[in-house]
Amino acid sequence: MEKGKLLYEGKAKKIYETDNPEQLIVHYKDDATAFDGKKKGKIKSKGKFNLEISNIFFMLLEDNDVKTHLIRQISETDLLVKKVDIIPIEVVLRNVAAGSLAERLGLKEGTKLNRPILEYYYKNDELGDPLINRYHITERNLATEGQLKLLDILGFKINKILSNYLKEKELLLVDFKLEFGTDSNGNIILADEISPDTCRFWDLNTNKKLDKDRFRRNLGEVEQAYQEILYRLKKDVIV
Ligand code: ADP
Ligand code: UDP
Repeated sequence: MEKGKLLYEGKAKKIYETDNPEQLIVHYKDDATAFDGKKKGKIKSKGKFNLEISNIFFMLLEDNDVKTHLIRQISETDLLVKKVDIIPIEVVLRNVAAGSLAERLGLKEGTKLNRPILEYYYKNDELGDPLINRYHITERNLATEGQLKLLDILGFKINKILSNYLKEKELLLVDFKLEFGTDSNGNIILADEISPDTCRFWDLNTNKKLDKDRFRRNLGEVEQAYQEILYRLKKDVIV
């Protein structure tokens, strides 16, 4: 499968047309940004680590009956996916207080939440991806009530699957972001990526951060953290 026209260049990925109008090629870059793009940098080999990590999660989810955009890997950094119309809502799931939630609720980072929290953010760079609720979503026509119900069910289900899986790898899934889209039949499909760019992973025993917070907060050993996640996911896998 050849790359066609470049349709979009985002902060972490490039999207290309293919000769099939229902399929896209996603190229994973090493570029890293944080704080609405104000902090910029590169993380060596991030593209190939994230692609592989995300694929492992997406295949695990497919095995658990979650439909994803995954078709197949084309190269170390290129992935063939089903084209969807992205629903402009970032669905964030949280198990432990960190980042913006810790700030907003005045919780100490690391506080275990009594039950998982699901939040919606409006995916809109100009507005800085604000936190929104169901009423805002209806007002701006971002999704229907029915679609939102499905996003909630899928969000909590994915959280359970990933948390349990990561626990076996001695990793704590603190929080993460999901993006969904609709295919040409109107079905809701998990899209984008699940990686250390979009999740917080802490070592279960030491709480060491193994995700993009190492870049955001200048903690060092950034690429080693991404590599460590991939290593743990692949450890004990019989091939
Ligand atoms: P951003 O747009 O936030 O800078 P990226 O650099 O990751 O993020 O760009 C990837 C873009 O591709 C995102 O806007 C994402 O919503 C979109 N996308 C991801 N998967 C698909 C898909 N299967 N079909 C269409 N668009 C997708
Ligand atoms: N996240 C993301 N993309 C965004 C915003 C957040 O992938 O545009 C992820 C982030 O990596 C974390 C979770 O969503 O795993 C919650 O992020 P938070 O709201 O705490 O924001 P942050 O502290 O990253 O600003």
